[in-house]
Amino acid sequence: MSKIAIIGGGIIGVATAYELAKLGEEVILFEKNYFGSGSTFRCATGIRAQFTDEANIKLMKYSLERWEKLEEELESDINFRQTGYLFLATSEREVEAFKANIKLQNRFGVPTRLIDIEEAKEIAPILNTEPFLAGAWNPKDGKANPFKTLFAYLGKARELGVDAREHTEVVGLKREGKEITAVKFRSNGKVESIKVDAVLNAANAWAPLINEMAGLSRDLVPITAYKHQLVKTEPLERGQAEPLVCPPGWNDAYIIQDGEDGGIICGAGIEHKAKSLDDVEPTYDFLRGVLRYAVKIAPPLRYAHVVRQWAGFYAKTPDKNPAIGKLLENFYISAGFSGHGFMMAPAVAQAMAELIAKGRTRVPLDLEWYDPCRFERGELRSSAFQIG
Ligand SMILES: Cc1cc2nc3c(=O)[nH]c(=O)nc-3n(C[C@H](O)[C@H](O)[C@H](O)COP(=O)(O)OP(=O)(O)OC[C@H]3O[C@@H](n4cnc5c(N)ncnc54)[C@H](O)[C@@H]3O)c2cc1C
Repeated sequence: MSKIAIIGGGIIGVATAYELAKLGEEVILFEKNYFGSGSTFRCATGIRAQFTDEANIKLMKYSLERWEKLEEELESDINFRQTGYLFLATSEREVEAFKANIKLQNRFGVPTRLIDIEEAKEIAPILNTEPFLAGAWNPKDGKANPFKTLFAYLGKARELGVDAREHTEVVGLKREGKEITAVKFRSNGKVESIKVDAVLNAANAWAPLINEMAGLSRDLVPITAYKHQLVKTEPLERGQAEPLVCPPGWNDAYIIQDGEDGGIICGAGIEHKAKSLDDVEPTYDFLRGVLRYAVKIAPPLRYAHVVRQWAGFYAKTPDKNPAIGKLLENFYISAGFSGHGFMMAPAVAQAMAELIAKGRTRVPLDLEWYDPCRFERGELRSSAFQIG
């Protein structure tokens, strides 16, 4: 049994801790703030296999299969619901692009189909049918509660012996040759050090700082924090917009009915680079911009009160695909998930745990595609379709 340190207590770090413990490894998990306080508790709850490239489609098809069994496995209610994703086309060109995507998704077993607007209206009664020509609909996509999911993983991880510490910040890594041999951390103002056999950098937006602690360049894995925001309305009658509904041609704007309280969560690709890694202040520009789109998608939202607005980070690599793999002999990274880390967590956590513990994985995760060193070689993948 080796001692594995995980840095970052978001969904990726916590789920990987659980998967490693399942494989019999000793795990110590560090979170500098509280668990979920990074991007995870700010996410829009969406889970989809409707991607536009083979690697992400295969990974998400597998992840969805894990999501389907997660409540049973973790013995907790995580409110996972397969309420679908509905993408809407606003031009003939987009309809053609949808058809090509659907063909690719179908090839890998994702049952997306092209639907007309009458059917779209039945699926999401709140929808304004006028501007849209057709929809791409996968009823197997869905949503889950990020708070419940993280705590379900965390509870099980602790049951399996994971030493999960919050308010404990990693402040240094000891490197000897190509290995990290110790982790230095601060808790309650006291700095301590422990010996480790392997380290996983799951710090997402903060990952470049952890790489630097390992003696690597910050730019080796260029992850940049972009401020992303959401607003949520008061609860509406259930069933109005259960799937995530998104016309990608409208700046990736989307709405989705919260699986818990029925409020409508509204998002859009109105983003800018975060000024710092503390820059999570919501902005009025976003509020105004996103509501314009939301009301165009679903006119009754004009009358709904906004009860909450918040901001978090899309931690983005240049091609919006995450960086997953090995950086040194025993130093791994699983970070830079843009708008997809929540949905990918069950598959990526399993894959990373198997890689660390066994050196290989049976998860259909294309290691070359997500290779964290691809940027250094000047390789960029086709850009992953970004929204949640
Ligand atoms: C508005 C918004 C909407 C989104 N919608 C969706 C969606 O619908 N579906 C989806 O799949 N994804 C969505 N995402 C993206 C998703 O939230 C992230 O990809 C995912 O949560 C990333 O998880 P993570 O564990 O990698 O990172 P995080 O949750 O950010 O966790 C990283 C953790 O590392 C900790 N840390 C950093 N430095 C240190 C250190 N030195 N020592 C110890 N701990 C440290 C941080 O405090 C943080 O908690 C959305 C994101 C936002 C902001």
